[in-house]
Amino acid sequence: MKKHILISGAGIAGLTVANFLAKQGHNVTVIDRSSSFSKAGFLISLKSFGVKIIDELGLTQNLQAESSPSETVHFVETNEEIIQSIEYDKMHENIERSVLVSRGGLHHVLYEAVKNDVNVLLDTTIAQLEENADNTKVTLSNGSRIVVDLVVVSEGLRSSTRERYFTNYQLEDFNTLYVGGKLKQNHEKRVGVFKVYIDVNRSLHIYPIAEDELAIQCYIRSSEDIDFIKNNASSILKDSFGDYNPEVKHLLQSLQDNGLFFMDKMGMVNAPTLHNGRLVLLGDAGFCPTALSGMGASLSIYGAKALAHYIAEYPDDILTACNSYNTLMQPIVEKFQTNAKNNAASFLPKSEAELEKFVNGFRAADDKAVQKIMTEPIVLTKDQENFILN
Ligand SMILES: Cc1cc2nc3c(=O)[nH]c(=O)nc-3n(C[C@H](O)[C@H](O)[C@H](O)COP(=O)(O)OP(=O)(O)OC[C@H]3O[C@@H](n4cnc5c(N)ncnc54)[C@H](O)[C@@H]3O)c2cc1C
Repeated sequence: MKKHILISGAGIAGLTVANFLAKQGHNVTVIDRSSSFSKAGFLISLKSFGVKIIDELGLTQNLQAESSPSETVHFVETNEEIIQSIEYDKMHENIERSVLVSRGGLHHVLYEAVKNDVNVLLDTTIAQLEENADNTKVTLSNGSRIVVDLVVVSEGLRSSTRERYFTNYQLEDFNTLYVGGKLKQNHEKRVGVFKVYIDVNRSLHIYPIAEDELAIQCYIRSSEDIDFIKNNASSILKDSFGDYNPEVKHLLQSLQDNGLFFMDKMGMVNAPTLHNGRLVLLGDAGFCPTALSGMGASLSIYGAKALAHYIAEYPDDILTACNSYNTLMQPIVEKFQTNAKNNAASFLPKSEAELEKFVNGFRAADDKAVQKIMTEPIVLTKDQENFILN
């Protein structure tokens, strides 16, 4: 029987599951607290099974159209000395595929694909939920009431519905803030050739993605809370990179003055159970693995397909569908989060001594060792790819 499903959060995860569920013929309503969407956002590298699922949805060409060229990445010290130069093709040899795209670009592809098949309400959130034996009554922030069979919570890292209706989760603070954004500006840099500064407690990534556009990402160790960080964005950026060369300082200033940028702290979400009755967590809201895993978007897309798979398998038993989804996801999430935690140790060296150790190791690494560092852990088993529970 066809179900009425509410998806709260029209991000990467929410739109992907909406697409799969609409294809199954369910009545899908998607809400998002934003009043509009933009193509802005940090660059992500969508890899392996994430790209495969986009393929299955018939969206490969649209994704390619939004993607950014990627050729080489130079990892450098602050004095511009190159530590390692890695070609993207080589780096991703042992993952089937990888596409570099802004979060906004990926979002645009997913939204365009689904917007005519589902009911999308912007500027809308969940005001109240009341769960009954057979359904859930939802009051929305616009005052309307709907009765649904399932509520998918895909509101991202700082989900307020999770905060309200789930008690047994943890949001681990990685004491690292990130700033990611795009700047429309002519430049002399070669498109597709990127530079990553590796430094103590900070790192800066400059991506020329078009002749008139740069993407800039920074990571800074910080134990301040998120409100302080958002209120002091400008001085934090200035202080953190104040000793960098004038070109870098100018770029960061231009990003603040003219660019579109986003800032948050890295956090990891650990929810021992991904559902509470007819309320199910998906994507970063349920299992954010942080940017350190390099796989959050792929994991969100995979989770979306998995949830839709079990809803198709148990169309009249939503709770069993949610249980199966939870059983499948937990070990996968654990694997990606463990990997991210391991990466955290070397991601931002805490002292000059740590920096030197990391730089020396990285400089000496041959192609195989570099591939291992960058891509080895990104695999699912065949059973996991096919949603077979052991
Ligand atoms: C700096 C950085 C680099 C990254 N790099 C990569 C990478 O290279 N590869 C990769 O695979 N992943 C990467 N990721 C991770 C990836 O971006 C996320 O895992 C992915 O965007 C999660 O998708 P989501 O739909 O769960 O959440 P989001 O994309 O955050 O979407 C959440 C949506 O919910 C909405 N919302 C929020 N609260 C509410 C509410 N209360 N009610 C209704 N709507 C709400 C928001 O407006 C938003 O539209 C990176 C992340 C960061 C921060």
